[in-house]
Amino acid sequence: MKYARARFGGEEFYALVEGDTLVRLLDRPFDGARPDGRRYPLSGAKLLAPCEPTKIVCVGKNYWAHAEEMKEGHPAEPLLFLKPSTCVVGHEDEVVYPKLSQRLDYEGELGVVIGCRAHCVAPGTARDYIFGYTCLNDVTARDIQKGDPQWTRGKGFDTFCPIGPWIETELDAGNVCLQTRLNGETRQASSTALMTHDVDKLVCYMSACMTLLPGDVIATGTPEGIGPMRAGDVVEVEIEGIGVLLNRIAAE
Ligand code: MG
Repeated sequence: MKYARARFGGEEFYALVEGDTLVRLLDRPFDGARPDGRRYPLSGAKLLAPCEPTKIVCVGKNYWAHAEEMKEGHPAEPLLFLKPSTCVVGHEDEVVYPKLSQRLDYEGELGVVIGCRAHCVAPGTARDYIFGYTCLNDVTARDIQKGDPQWTRGKGFDTFCPIGPWIETELDAGNVCLQTRLNGETRQASSTALMTHDVDKLVCYMSACMTLLPGDVIATGTPEGIGPMRAGDVVEVEIEGIGVLLNRIAAE
């Protein structure tokens, strides 16, 4: 099943995506996914970010080949950081290239959407807490990230976390293709099977520290092939079984 959030006729709502139709829900899909009886054509709606996370919990250097290209070693345990909720934008929204940065990178990633309150999740049970999966771009001001001892500024500008176009709930995310394209050219092509720490491990590790709430998003790390973007570029993150998240880069 695909769940989206959309704007139609000035109203914003969660919806089940059935082919070309949005089936409007009474509340969030994690809260029961009850249809309210209204249906809309997908083509006439603006898709919004498919959830409204209180936090985006991210992992750095979670693919061996990406850690190699960064030349900063391989962390033995998941290297966690946060992006603020104000980073989140949706499919076809603009990513703003900040004036403070001279190097803005894409990082295509699998996004995991939490479905219920998760605290100290036991190994092997993470799937019980996951609602579904989405495409995510961990947009990074690389120069600022490298210049600061913490990554908060480099990863935390407004619009630095496009997610979407929707949440797919029926995916086995353990071995799916992930591609990032810049202006139609493939720049990243890998498989989620190549993560150092898999999704189950990440949910357990993160929830041992902080409670994950319904709608929170985990950014599972990017494979090799990261690179810069310019204003006017179009960046796409495609994940097999989910879809394509497309965003344009806009000058501040
Ligand atoms: Mg990343």
